[in-house]
Amino acid sequence: MSYSVTVVEKGRNYVRLLFRGVPLALLNAVRRASMEYVPTMAIDFVTFNNNTSPLHDEIIAHRLGLTPLYSEEAIRKYRGPEECVDVSPEVSTDCYAVLSLQESTGDGEVKTVYSSDLKPVTDPDVKPVYDKIPLIVLGPKQEVSLDAYARLGRGVDHIKWSPVTTAVVTYSARLNVDLGLCTLCGKCAEVCPRGALTIEGGTIVAREEKCILCRQCVRACPVEAISLGFKEDEFYLDIESSGALRPETVIVEAFKVITSKLDAFLSALNSIKAQSGG
Ligand code: SF4
Ligand code: SF4
Repeated sequence: MSYSVTVVEKGRNYVRLLFRGVPLALLNAVRRASMEYVPTMAIDFVTFNNNTSPLHDEIIAHRLGLTPLYSEEAIRKYRGPEECVDVSPEVSTDCYAVLSLQESTGDGEVKTVYSSDLKPVTDPDVKPVYDKIPLIVLGPKQEVSLDAYARLGRGVDHIKWSPVTTAVVTYSARLNVDLGLCTLCGKCAEVCPRGALTIEGGTIVAREEKCILCRQCVRACPVEAISLGFKEDEFYLDIESSGALRPETVIVEAFKVITSKLDAFLSALNSIKAQSGG
């Protein structure tokens, strides 16, 4: 069976791929692995030295946990989530990256503390992806001083470790207009939200790659000239990253996760076979 993959669109945190000949079940597994099993760094716990801000320690820790951290280098450098989940940072330095936040205000001063104020201490590669996430507003003569410990984790345990904001598999449209029936009234082009149907040079042009299968055109066509379906062996995979990992890294790591799970499954089957003397 032949298969192919084409990059349809790509941005810093977004990629759209078109797969041909790849089973839908496999792409759905990649989608789920992207959300739940590809590891990223996120702040696991926080030690507060001082907090006189209006926010409770727990609220600040929660906000810090949900602040995306660069993880491209970290996924190769640090030990995996399962090895670090119950390990103290004093015991293992290759589980945790430490970040620090030290902010205070003077008399009559009010200040917003942003994610850029969270500074890496032990590893310059693990730092907030975005600078302008507001974390705390300090009133006059207030202080927050803390150390934050980040480790690799998985989205299946907490969404803060998920590297994606969206991961979607969609069908690829099959769009045909019966030119024998079409009166070129243009109603389908008017309602199409993606410009997939247009009247050009006295004929109707269909661009399947733009179609999102919303069926607006089918409803609008007065003569039922449009047939709409999907291709059995073509699917789009859209991945939008939180910024912790590049979207292409997310997809490669998701395939690795699936491969290692299948390897573990095969080993289990082989051991059953060996035990039964097969
Ligand atoms: S199904 Fe929707 S997106 Fe596709 S051609 Fe019709 S109106 Fe346009
Ligand atoms: S709405 Fe139907 S008849 Fe009108 S241009 Fe589109 S396909 Fe042709």
